[in-house]
Amino acid sequence: MKILKIDHLGIAVNSLAEGQSFWNDIMGLDFQGTETVEEQKVTTAFLPIGESEVELLESTSPDGPIAKYIEKKGAGIQHVAFRVENIEEALAELKEKGVKLIDQKPRKGAGGAKIAFLHPKATKGVLVELCQRD
Ligand code: ZN
Repeated sequence: MKILKIDHLGIAVNSLAEGQSFWNDIMGLDFQGTETVEEQKVTTAFLPIGESEVELLESTSPDGPIAKYIEKKGAGIQHVAFRVENIEEALAELKEKGVKLIDQKPRKGAGGAKIAFLHPKATKGVLVELCQRD
């Protein structure tokens, strides 16, 4: 498996407006629009920093994964995404090594990326996303 870089940090926010008032207005990051991924009940906002991004995540529904995360742990860093060269290959390798996966196969993420999450139990507490962008 070849990990190319940290693609983005996924930050759960109560609302994008609240997140942006800090990350845009105070920290001065550039806001590059939002995208809703219905499947994951989330609206994301992208704020590029150099070769990586901050991705703000607002739940579109009280039963979505981000709403549940905030309920349990509060707003904050929810996942770390690593960009890989080939996500199918990476998942096959991890499976072979006995790593528990949330996604057995890649699914469609924001920005047209192919994404898959590893189980936080397998990573000792960090929700890791793999993503491939072509
Ligand atoms: Zn992500």
